[in-house]
Amino acid sequence: MINNFQSPLNLKLIKKCPVCNMDYQQSMIQVLDENEYGLLTYATCKSCGANLLTKFASLPQGVIGNAILTDLKPQEVMDFAGQDDLSDNDVLDIQYLISKKELINNLKKLT
Ligand SMILES: [Zn+2]
Repeated sequence: MINNFQSPLNLKLIKKCPVCNMDYQQSMIQVLDENEYGLLTYATCKSCGANLLTKFASLPQGVIGNAILTDLKPQEVMDFAGQDDLSDNDVLDIQYLISKKELINNLKKLT
């Protein structure tokens, strides 16, 4: 089944709410983003209200899917998705702050 991957058939891989086990209707599943790497979908359960964010990637070996429960709204997901990836320097900065035990203090300044 997974080997016969064809968009948008892969939406059928999202079958049940992981929280309350209710069957998803296809109409409950939104496609937030689709590109050559895969598909980002968002499903809200009508029964319990849980939001499931699912990412599919189509690779030569088959389809890989990740699913997480989220309390983000679809628009918030897209806002984060549009931000720049972490750069090498971002990682080094964080490591520096951790080594100086300044990370928590810096996070406190942000709030
Ligand atoms: Zn549910």
